[in-house]
Amino acid sequence: MHNLNNPITYINGISVQRATLLYTELGIKTCRDLLHFFPFRYIDKTQFYQINQLQPSNAEVQIVGKITHIKSVAQQKGSRLVATFQDATGTMELVWFKGQKWIANALKINEPYVIYGKLNHFNGSFSMPHPEMQLVTEYQKKLQSAMQPVYASTEKLASAGISNKLIRTYIESLFKQFYDGIEETLSHEILKEQQLISKKEALLNVHFPKSQEALAKGQYRLKFEELFFIQLQLVRKNLLHKTRIKGIVFKSVGDNFNNFYKYHLPFQLTGAQKRVLKEIRKDVASGIHMNRLLQGDVGSGKTIVALLSMLLAIDNGFQAALMAPTEILATQHFNAIATMLKDMPITVDLLTGSTKTKKRRTIHEALENGSLHILIGTHALLEEKVQFYNLGLAIVDEQHRFGVAQRAKLWMKSPSPTLPKGKGVSTENNNIINSTTKLKSLPLGSPETSGGGEAQLENTLPLGGKGWAPPPHILVMTATPIPRTLAMSLYGDLDISVIDELPPGRKEIKTVHRFDSQRLSVLKFMRDEIAKGRQIYVVYPLIEESEVLDYKDLMDGFESISREFPMPKYQISIVHGKMTAEKKEFEMQRFVKGETHIMVATTVIEVGVNVPNASVMIVESAERFGLSQLHQLRGRVGRGAEQSYCILMTSAKLSDEAKTRVKTMVETTDGFKIAEVDLKLRGPGNLMGTQQSGVLNLKIADLIKDGEILHLARKTAIKLLEQDPNMQQESNERIKKAFNEMTKTAKVWSRIS
Ligand code: ADP
Ligand code: MG
Repeated sequence: MHNLNNPITYINGISVQRATLLYTELGIKTCRDLLHFFPFRYIDKTQFYQINQLQPSNAEVQIVGKITHIKSVAQQKGSRLVATFQDATGTMELVWFKGQKWIANALKINEPYVIYGKLNHFNGSFSMPHPEMQLVTEYQKKLQSAMQPVYASTEKLASAGISNKLIRTYIESLFKQFYDGIEETLSHEILKEQQLISKKEALLNVHFPKSQEALAKGQYRLKFEELFFIQLQLVRKNLLHKTRIKGIVFKSVGDNFNNFYKYHLPFQLTGAQKRVLKEIRKDVASGIHMNRLLQGDVGSGKTIVALLSMLLAIDNGFQAALMAPTEILATQHFNAIATMLKDMPITVDLLTGSTKTKKRRTIHEALENGSLHILIGTHALLEEKVQFYNLGLAIVDEQHRFGVAQRAKLWMKSPSPTLPKGKGVSTENNNIINSTTKLKSLPLGSPETSGGGEAQLENTLPLGGKGWAPPPHILVMTATPIPRTLAMSLYGDLDISVIDELPPGRKEIKTVHRFDSQRLSVLKFMRDEIAKGRQIYVVYPLIEESEVLDYKDLMDGFESISREFPMPKYQISIVHGKMTAEKKEFEMQRFVKGETHIMVATTVIEVGVNVPNASVMIVESAERFGLSQLHQLRGRVGRGAEQSYCILMTSAKLSDEAKTRVKTMVETTDGFKIAEVDLKLRGPGNLMGTQQSGVLNLKIADLIKDGEILHLARKTAIKLLEQDPNMQQESNERIKKAFNEMTKTAKVWSRIS
């Protein structure tokens, strides 16, 4: 009877039909679901406003005053009824478009009313259309439930008569029938330490708040709980990974690393680069599989960290791979790395979609017999045919472009089930650490409740290679700074390193906003810069939906630039997605070599391209780009010693959001600050793409506003698992139970890593 897992038809008044509708429209199936279906806003009738306090927002307000005058005003179609409403501080108008006659008769002049509704603001005065009204005498007689919850609804629900009021009745019945069945999910210790109210009380406060304060306490408790259990899953997954997945041991730093570091390093590493490298070295020497995310803003110097890590692998007898999201990038990595390694006894090759069959075959062979040390490429690396002799480290650059599934595929590139042949290979033949396991691999909890979660978790942890060979260490590099709160939620199961320092001597890129009408001065600026020997990018948007139009813009732009910068004095490159890879590469190379002055392109050059002599980035229709894209684009310049510029061209008319984006870009070059603004503008789901939104599908917490609670929740989860990794202590029994319940249903695992 009190089981919250019962379908909602157990609640008085909910028919099968309505239950079905609630499920298809809102995903509410069980009593528990309904209990956790939280109001998305509240009507606050605890506050009274005075007319001179009103603000032009579209919030709903409650006012006490009197009607002094009523009139009918003719308008284009019919008429409207207007009442003058006044309190001690001012006057405003109440307006009706419907039921005018009836209302006019019912209204009482000069008697105090409580009115409630949304405000309109026009020409400095306020009006309220169709207010809710009660005589003060009536108002005082009624028992007021202060805050009224409003639940999300859909058109279908509304037309089936499932109103907000009805949902409230259902939830009221639910509370009456099931109140005793609501179990506490947190331990006494945590409740006390975090000063949280009980689960029952919190739910009651959130569905039927008596005051703002009670509501806030209830929400806080439920937000903490929600974030805590997500963090508990992520932190536990990370621990489990560390305890269970054995890693290849890179025992020593050998000649390749040392010689390169001493004799071939083109610059001194920054402090941040050194620190990150240390973190990686610690990981790969530990015997535990590395699963690390390396965040570093554009230009922070991730490539050299990748290279040095690969040298570590090679020094220990293993191969290394570096995967990039586009051919241009892969090629660029290849060129940069091959150049840096030219005096080293190390073999490097490039594999992309356009690698010729014959070359491909040589690569496959060299990979399999171990004579090729480093393979750089695109997702072509993931093809079945690509098998390594002994892959020790796989690096993925700019990870947000790769799907999660692709990341997982890299695991399978380990050697075949014969003994690994590298010299530094551990001879133990099992990559699962078993007998000494601190964390049990067995499901938590009783057999009947443990079905889904843990078992599912086990399945999602690939055990590497074909059977037992340790999987390659994984380093994922991303140039898209992720706000900390988001990183904690999305990658809470990964270890994170951050390069938070740019190489020395970089000049801050000057960013300006120019309207299309100021194009002449921009052209002049371009000429001046070219005369100084600089090169320029001009980037056009390319959005899939308007592809045809965008290409037209690009070609028109290319033509007009060709007119302004005529040959032979000026040379212009153009690169866009419809060109073949060879043609693109050819044009890129002309620009890289300095043979062309201007590169006209769509966003294909967005990520990673490195041409230090290019010092001006002009973004056309900048209002159509997202913040992270603009940031990426700007990161293409400022790579050399010269002062660099970014010019954001827009039309005169901008949406508020576009204005904020442009303003943010002009004001800061800090990728993390930009990411924070982006998160606020777009919300976490949009920021990270839909495939990861599962983790972000929060019911009550908000990653933007509740960062503080998130930190506490994560800290609490870590502390708990440190003390009691399997949640076996009696005091943690409730947590364990709730955890099992949750992992059984939540698909968090399949979404990440
Ligand atoms: P990203 O993190 O965007 O991949 P890169 O690795 O491409 O950055 O580095 C950007 C530029 O900075 C390159 O030209 C690289 O040679 C240079 N660079 C990297 N680290 C340093 C350093 N410590 N000192 C000076 N220049 C550096
Ligand atoms: Mg890079």
